Amino acid sequence: MLSSTMDESMIKEITAKTLLSHDNKPDPWFGIQYNMNLYRGCSHQCIYCDSRSACYQIENFADTLVKTNALELLRKELPGKRMKGTIGTGSMNDPYAPIEKKYQLTRGALKIIAEYGFPVHVLTKSNLVCRDVDLLLEIQERSFALVSFTITTFDDDLGKKVEPGAPLVSERFAAMNFLASQGVRVGVSLMPVLPFIEDNWENIKTIVNLVSDNGAGHILAAFGMTQREGQQEYYYQKLDDLFPGVREKHIRKFKNQYECSANQSKQLQSQFAILCKQIGMGMKVPVYKPELKMKQLNIFDSL
Ligand code: SF4
Repeated sequence: MLSSTMDESMIKEITAKTLLSHDNKPDPWFGIQYNMNLYRGCSHQCIYCDSRSACYQIENFADTLVKTNALELLRKELPGKRMKGTIGTGSMNDPYAPIEKKYQLTRGALKIIAEYGFPVHVLTKSNLVCRDVDLLLEIQERSFALVSFTITTFDDDLGKKVEPGAPLVSERFAAMNFLASQGVRVGVSLMPVLPFIEDNWENIKTIVNLVSDNGAGHILAAFGMTQREGQQEYYYQKLDDLFPGVREKHIRKFKNQYECSANQSKQLQSQFAILCKQIGMGMKVPVYKPELKMKQLNIFDSL
């Protein structure tokens, strides 16, 4: 079924054959072992989004494909997983993009994850995640729950340019504060840091201090961005529209290379590490440790 949103992007309902992808070990950055894309395509429309890359073969990334049988598949696939690894909530979309208000697939998936006692790591740019605080706490109680907000600038005006369809950065900080106050483990993914746009110490320092003030326990940072065919052309077009002159500097410095480091990336990294140490901010994602959870449960059992 096809329907059209106000900005003329399309919503298409599809059925999928499978849902959960699986790695033998948790990935070293986010601690995720299983991943599920409940949607494909994302109306947040970040100008740097890697999911636009030609290798993913998504015709129009502004369109959203909704996997209407996703919850059925999850309920079928999850009991067969012997290893209780952390489940990630997607890489080709934001699990709390506006479409989630209508379809509630992320909420439905969290209910199933809670039921089967699996750990979860939600990565989002949206304050809509606060709606599901009850389920996040339930999952945390049974195994492990983590919410990471992606934040690349502290400035709402700059955020509106680089992540035009996502909630304001200040709304993300407020959501972080709310979840932390309710007892949900929260952190930040500070990536990408766009060269010539976000790679200054003022930006990084302000983000770190705001993250600390709003109750998050860690920041996973990468000082730079990546570029690939498909995504690169879109990014250049947006640089021309929004940041005149930056495209030329970017091309001069990086040409077609995949990894594009922030200017002064080593210095930024070292200043970032010093500040995090000073204020007790973690620089790695906390991961699910099943043996610890078992010990905790045994202690409580014996009381
Ligand atoms: S929120 Fe994530 S998936 Fe959505 S457009 Fe932005 S970077 Fe891409």
